[in-house]
Amino acid sequence: MLSPAFIMPIRKELIWMARDIPPVQAGSRLVLNRIGDYFGHDTDAPPIPSGTRWRGSQAGSCAKQIAYATMGHESSNPITPADHWRMGLGSIVHTHLSPAIERWVANDPDVVIHEEMETHLGEHGFGHIDMVVELPNDDKKIVVELKTINGTGFKRSIQGEGPRHSALLQGSLYANALDADLLVICYLAVELLSPGWAEAKGFDNYGRFGAEWHYTPDEFIPLAKQEIERMEWITKTAHGVPGIEGVPRSFSESDPDIPDGAEIADPATGIWHHSINGDLIGKGKAWQCNYCRYQDRCVDDYHKGF
Ligand code: SF4
Repeated sequence: MLSPAFIMPIRKELIWMARDIPPVQAGSRLVLNRIGDYFGHDTDAPPIPSGTRWRGSQAGSCAKQIAYATMGHESSNPITPADHWRMGLGSIVHTHLSPAIERWVANDPDVVIHEEMETHLGEHGFGHIDMVVELPNDDKKIVVELKTINGTGFKRSIQGEGPRHSALLQGSLYANALDADLLVICYLAVELLSPGWAEAKGFDNYGRFGAEWHYTPDEFIPLAKQEIERMEWITKTAHGVPGIEGVPRSFSESDPDIPDGAEIADPATGIWHHSINGDLIGKGKAWQCNYCRYQDRCVDDYHKGF
């Protein structure tokens, strides 16, 4: 063991490191820029199966955004290396789960689990379901939608916000398609809750990195039917007459943050307006526009009058 006399001078030497030390300038990085280059290639979504036009993962998205995607428009705002990095972390978590699921199945002969099950949705939709848990002895089927989330979003979700509306809609589409008995939305956080915070709020150890919300058919079927109707209307309108020009900048009827009937009034900022008979009765700001892969195109089209 090192004597205190030996340790003390080193700790004194390191005191200066605790001060305000900015990271090196972007041009002087030795490691990060090389790693970042690897993640710098934008990839459009994989091709959709023939005969289909929309995906379950688009549930809850802006109607105009869905229309651009279903018409095959290229991204005007491609995703960045930082976005790739974030999405890659989500994929790593899913891969990380495989041995846990294998052990679950090996230890429980009453359970059958299907991962990445494909399903048709409505007339022109399709999706990949993260997990389907079958309990043959009970004749029960459970659809599981897994979502990774950052620490801030996770904290908000478990303090009353619940899962994102888009996750609930996506899960509802899948649970409805499979005629499931239960929908489970399972959040997996990429950052842990601190032990003290979790204990003070009454969360156990597993609750430090994940949470579940359960929905029964009477809850998810109406949501699924409403969203399928909206998705089909968007794609039929975009592919038909009047075409993409007739698709509004609106969101799902059940969206808790943007009222039914509201439309984006400024796609450059996400400002939405809700008007009835020409009278403005509400307004707010949607975060979605600033994360939209078609924002510049949408702004251009907006200035063209549609
Ligand atoms: S920029 Fe906003 S309004 Fe335009 S397509 Fe994207 S999400 Fe919709």
